[in-house]
Amino acid sequence: MMREAQKILKNVFGYDDFRPVQKDVVATMLAGDNAFVLMPTGGGKSMCYQVPSIIRKGTGIIVSPLISLMKDQVDALHSCGVRAAFYNSSLKAAEAREVLETLAAGKLDLLYVAPERLLTEAFLKHLHEIDIALFAVDEAHCVSQWGHDFRPEYVKLGLLHELFPNTPMLALTATADEHTREDIVRCLSLTNVKRFVSSFDRPNIRYLVTQKSNPLRQLLEFLHDWPDESGIVYCLSRKRVEEAAVHLQRHGLRAAAYHAGLPAKQREKVQDDFLRDRVRVIVATIAFGMGVDKSNVRFVIHHDIPKSIESYYQETGRAGRDGLESEALLLYGAGDISLVRKLIENVESQEQRRIEAHKLNSMVSFSEALTCRRRVLLGYFGERLKHDCGNCDICLDPPETFDGTNLARLALACVRELKGHFGMGYVVDVLRGANTSRIREHGHSKLTAYGSGSDLSQDEWTSILRQLVHHSFLVQDVSHHGALRLAKLADDILVAGQSVTLAKFKPGFRRGLKKISRQRNDDLFHKLAEIRKDLANREGIAPHAVLSDVTLSQMSLSLPSSIEAMSQISGMGQHKLETYGEAFLPILRQHEGEALEEKAKPTVETLKLVAKGSAANDGQLRTWDLYKQGLDSDDIAAQQGISETGLMKHFIALVRAGHHVDVEKVVGEYFSVIMEALDDADPHASLSEVKRDLPVEISNEAFRLALAWREAIGEA
Ligand code: ADP
Ligand code: ZN
Repeated sequence: MMREAQKILKNVFGYDDFRPVQKDVVATMLAGDNAFVLMPTGGGKSMCYQVPSIIRKGTGIIVSPLISLMKDQVDALHSCGVRAAFYNSSLKAAEAREVLETLAAGKLDLLYVAPERLLTEAFLKHLHEIDIALFAVDEAHCVSQWGHDFRPEYVKLGLLHELFPNTPMLALTATADEHTREDIVRCLSLTNVKRFVSSFDRPNIRYLVTQKSNPLRQLLEFLHDWPDESGIVYCLSRKRVEEAAVHLQRHGLRAAAYHAGLPAKQREKVQDDFLRDRVRVIVATIAFGMGVDKSNVRFVIHHDIPKSIESYYQETGRAGRDGLESEALLLYGAGDISLVRKLIENVESQEQRRIEAHKLNSMVSFSEALTCRRRVLLGYFGERLKHDCGNCDICLDPPETFDGTNLARLALACVRELKGHFGMGYVVDVLRGANTSRIREHGHSKLTAYGSGSDLSQDEWTSILRQLVHHSFLVQDVSHHGALRLAKLADDILVAGQSVTLAKFKPGFRRGLKKISRQRNDDLFHKLAEIRKDLANREGIAPHAVLSDVTLSQMSLSLPSSIEAMSQISGMGQHKLETYGEAFLPILRQHEGEALEEKAKPTVETLKLVAKGSAANDGQLRTWDLYKQGLDSDDIAAQQGISETGLMKHFIALVRAGHHVDVEKVVGEYFSVIMEALDDADPHASLSEVKRDLPVEISNEAFRLALAWREAIGEA
């Protein structure tokens, strides 16, 4: 069965391998069991039900709350040659009838249905008359009142399991805290359910936070780094949306405004223009996004601070669904915080006000963090990163650090003395020995900690406490007035004497980061994208449903000159090859010709290589292609999804097949050490014997590559 799944994945969708969780979920569905899947946006949820729906007998019924998304999904499936349809209120009577007829005739692999349609008696009757491959409930958090997007029509979905007890069911969501998770399983009556919970991390999103100074200018500067790419700018108010949109338009950018105050028709048009790449930048209030499934959104900018980390995560998460490098920029302004505070004051229920205030505080503390942003973000969702991420502004442009052990001890001791009942501001006051009425009331001037840190400023202490929270030495209890208490790890410092490195507090503007380098030939990519747009227009679907940016990027580098070669590219399934492949070949061939001419120019040294091994296989040839494009080893390994060792093995095979690899460069700094060792070695010595006397650790693969090279040039 899994072999069949693998085949469908390659032939229909054009992907070589399942992602790790996908594979397990697909196996579960194929075995006819129930599953619950928590995967971040872009994780690849759709494949979890699409592949089993195609393989299992009957039709997969997909419940989805967003009518606008259904059409996109079905378009994308059609472009892969999959028999799919949707059934919702947007269909005319005749169209709806046609869908039902196709369903009854058993000619659908997947049917997307809105929940209110699904649970009508008439429709259930149809379902009883056909074979159902599985039920998939997308955006399953809508079933829970605990979730942030509760939809009453989802509640009744629990009935499905009673009505169709033998049909496997799959619930999928990208956002669920533990409470919501259990609620979903309960509401859908998922018995014997297998749970698959992925990390929330979105590694391809680079998080940046910048002090807001002149936001409109900052926007333009940022957009300058992303020419011709799509993105979203979020603003707090309609007024700011309008302002920013007009400003961008005046500077010649294809930007459009989107907020709840616009007529429905206009909103629909803006959304559609964005999906079809007619508009490049959407400036929007948070009203925008839920119904937008555009895989190649390259950046999300927060012109103003979001109200909570949850919102921030969700909104930035709309970038980079295709897995390509993307950026999230937050313009952080102190003025905005008081603005949001005022908005919160208008909230009616006192309890709600308190919760929102605490959520905002967490967001503020994220923005002011001096620790890896990803660490803070994931920490908020209860995940602990083992290493700093290397892909956020803090990691890329780290603040100065100092040995903060003594200060951390003071802070932790103070929190311990306050017994976990007081928030950050209060702890700072006690540390600094402030003479406030609250401290007097509690008699806290008698504490040992009182005034123990009087030589640091309020900002400095706040920064230290935040860092201790981010490093999990302190816990900030959002449900309890943001009170600080000691975490288990605090003992490492207080008792075990561990030392702590802290970042120096540094106010002001920061940005000195390397631009994201994209793995593609920009010039050719844009030409390919033009062709894609024409194809999409002809079919009336979105360009990214024709081919993804990932596919075009790979094409622009590997320059396949035949349909056969094109089938190696990720995302090129059989149907897409047949339907779209030809359209791209002329321009690809032209570029290949140019590239060859470039190559044919005489090089300094043209050694004649002797092929000592068999011809390279497809994967190795792809490495060869990337290598010829001038990508460095790290990039090739990343693009190929292989390890450093795996890459070396490719190079070994390529050299043995007679390809001219610059081995000295690939092996790196120890090339000459290896060569000398080989010269000196007894010809019958084993590799480990040759390596034993070397002063440095060198991998076997590096040696084997050098050996292959010596053989190929006839020296060995
Ligand atoms: P989600 O619904 O979880 O946000 P999608 O199902 O839209 O994610 O998939 C995100 C992206 O990943 C899509 O562009 C999809 O084509 C791609 N993708 C999914 N599975 C694979 C895979 N096994 N190999 C390569 N790309 C994949
Ligand atoms: Zn980081």
